[in-house]
Order: sequence, then C-alpha cells, then structure tokens
Amino acid sequence: MSGEIKAGLEIHQQLDTHKLFCNCPSVLRKDDAEFEVRRRLHAVAGESGEVDIAAKHEAKQNKEFIYEGYDTTCLVELDEEPPHLINEEALMTVLYVALLLNCEIFPISQIMRKTVVDGSNTSGFQRTVLVARNGYIETESGRVRIDNISLEEDSARFISKEENKFRLDRLGIPLIEIGTAPDIKNPEQAKEVALYIGDVLRSCKVKRGIGTIRQDVNVSTPGHPRIEIKGFQDVKMFVPTIEKEVKRQVGNLKSKKDLIGQVRNALSDGSSEFIRPMPGAARMYPETDLPLLRISKQMIDEAKRTLPKLRSELKVDLIKKGLRDDEIQILLKGDNLDDFNNLLKIINEPRFIYKVLIEIPKQIGDLDMDIIESIVYAVDNGKLDKLDVKQVMQEIVNGKSLEEALIIEKADIGDVESEIIKLIKEKPGLSVGGYMGLIMQKFKGKVNGKEVNTILNKLLN
Ligand SMILES: [Zn+2]
Repeated sequence: MSGEIKAGLEIHQQLDTHKLFCNCPSVLRKDDAEFEVRRRLHAVAGESGEVDIAAKHEAKQNKEFIYEGYDTTCLVELDEEPPHLINEEALMTVLYVALLLNCEIFPISQIMRKTVVDGSNTSGFQRTVLVARNGYIETESGRVRIDNISLEEDSARFISKEENKFRLDRLGIPLIEIGTAPDIKNPEQAKEVALYIGDVLRSCKVKRGIGTIRQDVNVSTPGHPRIEIKGFQDVKMFVPTIEKEVKRQVGNLKSKKDLIGQVRNALSDGSSEFIRPMPGAARMYPETDLPLLRISKQMIDEAKRTLPKLRSELKVDLIKKGLRDDEIQILLKGDNLDDFNNLLKIINEPRFIYKVLIEIPKQIGDLDMDIIESIVYAVDNGKLDKLDVKQVMQEIVNGKSLEEALIIEKADIGDVESEIIKLIKEKPGLSVGGYMGLIMQKFKGKVNGKEVNTILNKLLN
C-alpha cells in the first residue's frame, strides 16, 4: 500500500485479579440480578469547584439510571463506601507489562478521577492512574514508542439502552491501558504491534476471550484530522480496516468533505461506521479518597526478579525441549505450563511429562495434580514402569487409590512369553509396538510393559 499514514494503538485489557478498589471477584454474571438500585446522575464538581459542562448537560436531562447488583458486588461499586487501597496483584501485573514494554515506572503517582457522563459509573467518574511511560517496541519497520501505561477500573456494562440499565459486575474490574505514540507507518506494522502487545499481555495475568480486550486505532493521512476506530476484536482485521480507512480519508481530502475528527466503530467486513465526533481531552481531577500511589524500588526489583517470559520465548524453549507444534499450542493455550515445568524437574523428559500431564488424562479423564506428581515420582524411583503409567492412571480414575493401583497383579512371565511366541507365529511381520499393543490388551495390565518389551526384542532380533 502506498501513501504515508500516522497511526497509534490504544489497548484496554481486563486483568485476571480481584477488582481494583475492592475485594470483589472480577466475574461477569449470567444469572438474573439479586437487586436493583436507581440513581440520578449529579454533576460532579472538580477540585477547582467547576462543574463539568458535559456532566451538567447530562444531569439537566435528569436521567435515571438502573444498576443491577449481586452478592459478588459490594458498596464500593455502589459508590456508598470509599474505595479500598489499590489491588496489589493488579499493580504487579501492570509492572510486568511496563517492564516487558521497556517503560519507565513512576515512583509516585496520583490516582485520578475521569469524568464519565453516560451512567456507566455509579460515581460519575472512572478512577485511573498513570503507572509508566516512555517504553518502546522494535518492529520490522522501526521502533514504535509506548507513550503511557495506566491502570483503570472498568465501567458497568450496559444491559438495556432504553431503560438506562447497567450491571455492576463489570464495574471495577482492573483494566490496563496501553497507548502507543503515533509512530506506526503502515497497516502491517499496526498488526505487528498489536500482536506483540498481545503476546506481552498473555504472558501476564490477564483475562482471556471475547470482550476482555478492546483495541482502538488512531489513523490520519497528511492533511486529514485524526480518526479513531474502536472495537477491534481480531488482530487480522487491522490491515483491511486501516487500508479502507486510508482510502476513505484520501477520498475526503479530494472531495474536501467530511474533514472532521471522528470516533468510528470497526465492522467485521473491514469498513467502519461513524459513532460520534472526536471528544476533547477527558476531564480529570485528583481522587481525594485515596493516598498517592507509591511504587517502591523493592517492588520494581521484585517485578524484575519474577518477570514472566514472553509466550514467544516459551515457545522457543518448548521447541528446544523436543515438543511438537500442536503440543506446544495446547500447553500455551491451557494453564498447565507451570505444572509441566515442575514435573520436568522430577524427570527431565518433556515428551513423557506431556503424555502424563496432558495426553493420558485427555483419554481417560482428569486426575488431581498431586496424583500425577506421585506417579512421576513413582516412575523416577523405579516403583512404576513408564509403560504401565497409563494403566495405573486408568485404575485411579476407576476408583482405586494410588497405592492399590501401583500394586500390579502380574501374570506368570512364562505364560506371557509363550503367548508372545504364539502371536508372532499367527501374525508375522508386525512391529515391536504392534505386538506390544496386542499383548498389553490381552493381559489387561497384568503384565509389566518393560518385560514384554524385553521379550519382544529378544524374540524379534
Ligand atoms: Zn466490590
């Protein structure tokens, strides 16, 4: 694609911790609300005593809002109790992201209130705190700076526009906001940046799935005001959407029409639709109910010491360990990676550990992690042969205790050998594995796999 563009990304990602300023769980409820509260929005005066004009305008309309609550929401979401101190786990997650994106972390920061007039916050404002700045990402077409990383509280979610009804379950879920500088020069680079930031986020404790991440792009071509396109769910749509937007802007410049800053909504076909004119900078004033946020050197050192590896690095590690691509995908998608690495410390054989942790449970049913660990220990100290692992696990799934399952009632080894000789005569030309399977099936676990293997090798070679 030709023509220069200037683009920047703004990404909001929900964190997988408790809420930012209370101890409620960050869960979205599917069941009916337990109670409803009705509120009218009052125009809120800032520090200066000024009342925000937009807030005043909304308040004049005297709109009533309905909020749905649950036993998983508290008085903080209802704005009837002051906010608690900031969630430490969420803060640590943001420090990880800031370090992975090469940012400077502010040692002291003021938590701010950002005026919100649409009713999606019971208080009429959203709390936000700037945690880091001046980071960067290296891409194929040059460095893209990270301007700011903030920690914010998510808003209440709309349930019904007609009734002005919101649900409190989402209000207060920690959100990390990452803003890049307008350094992106082409649509492919926008995609590359989004993928990289996605990799960083998924390496940390963030929520997964649709709706947990919101990606916006700011685009402008020379001479055209900045356009913000919101609501990308799929990174694949970055290139076609930005290409279409650039064409639209070039058309506007030619016809001299529609030359205003806008917020637009990304559609699934790569086009976008107008939502509203570009708003001015959000009004902010200090959150006086909370102390200054201090991020000590010890905290930053702790974050550096426990910094998670990027998923792309983990992938390289797992390839080195000899896992196949599909196995790596499964490990990285699930939450088994820590268990996998811990079991590797007992027996350093990645394929075997993968089999015990993922493959066998997938075939026979889930087992507790401590049972799986005991099985790996039993193999390590010679109490259990690797070839019998599946059978022992099966018996535990069927209800036996680990101790019972480990005592394997054995068939007479002479009987086994004559059975093998008979089988080789009946079905000549099979592989060792082929005979092995048939014998194991015949003796249904009453035979030690290692011994069968030895006999087969002796007879076949
Ligand atoms: Zn709460």
